[in-house]
Amino acid sequence: MTIIDGKLISQQIKDELKEKTALLKEKGVEVTLAVILVGEDPASQVYVRNKKKACEYIGYRSLSYELPATTSQEELLKLIDELNNRKDVDGILVQMPVPEHINEKAVIDAIDPAKDVDGFHPMNVGALCIGEKGFVSCTPAGVIQLLKRGLPSDYSISGKECVIVGRSNIVGKPMSLLMLRENATVTVAHSRTKNLEEVCKRADILIAAVGRAGMITADHVKEGAVVIDVGINRNADGKLCGDVLYDEVKDKAFAITPVPGGVGPMTIAMLMNNCYEAALMHNADLLK
Ligand code: NDP
Repeated sequence: MTIIDGKLISQQIKDELKEKTALLKEKGVEVTLAVILVGEDPASQVYVRNKKKACEYIGYRSLSYELPATTSQEELLKLIDELNNRKDVDGILVQMPVPEHINEKAVIDAIDPAKDVDGFHPMNVGALCIGEKGFVSCTPAGVIQLLKRGLPSDYSISGKECVIVGRSNIVGKPMSLLMLRENATVTVAHSRTKNLEEVCKRADILIAAVGRAGMITADHVKEGAVVIDVGINRNADGKLCGDVLYDEVKDKAFAITPVPGGVGPMTIAMLMNNCYEAALMHNADLLK
């Protein structure tokens, strides 16, 4: 059984980006990410801090906007508009969730799709859907990298039965489109799915993205399956855990991601990758 090491793979990706970023700098291009946080949600503060740290590690410039929870939607949209128009800004990230008086969709729609490094804008989601170039949501993009880098080199996603549990806009749905792009045969399960156990058991690759501690048991898993656990939960003892009952599933799986240390670290690595891609796109003339 292989434990897919997300910490290691995310570090590899960040190191590759660090090298490529140094080369860009020699050509006069600096990658810049603008991060906006509205309010003082402690979890969001940690996420934002980690994103800024990753920028620093790779050699990106990060601009930080920490706005009070009382910021109006109009003020936030005005800031986004300013950043959209700044030539020196490659990526714009608004840390979600935003306070309740701000409409999340209005915020996502306001970001220039060419700077939408989270990959949430309808233009980027649409591009993914019809197989065009665009920014892909970071967590599902990270799962693809785990499958490509964390499994033996002769393992191929093509033709595999893939079951994704969860159909959210940021994980389940884009995950299904990415697995289709990789030529897997894809089933998406959700809260109305009947006989979840049987559906999951069909999977050569099972991806759990629900947010329910330990809901995927050994009974859901086919012998020799690859199991990817996107869930981040706390169990009864307050310990971080995934959607997969790791201890019993690991003995049946061919490969599995742990929580923590699996999908989690990949999200920031893929965000960093999107920032790099954004800078390449914005400086295409200079880099010719
Ligand atoms: P959402 O709550 O938006 O979506 C959960 C999905 O699970 C829904 O599609 C829902 O179905 C489905 N679901 C709920 N209950 C069941 C059930 N009993 N059986 C089958 N399906 C069910 O969550 P997210 O997609 O945002 O996140 C999922 C998990 O991934 C969370 O634990 C989150 O913390 C984690 N996460 C981790 C990230 C990382 O970096 N590792 C990044 C993003 C999320 P329905 O649509 O029918 O309601």
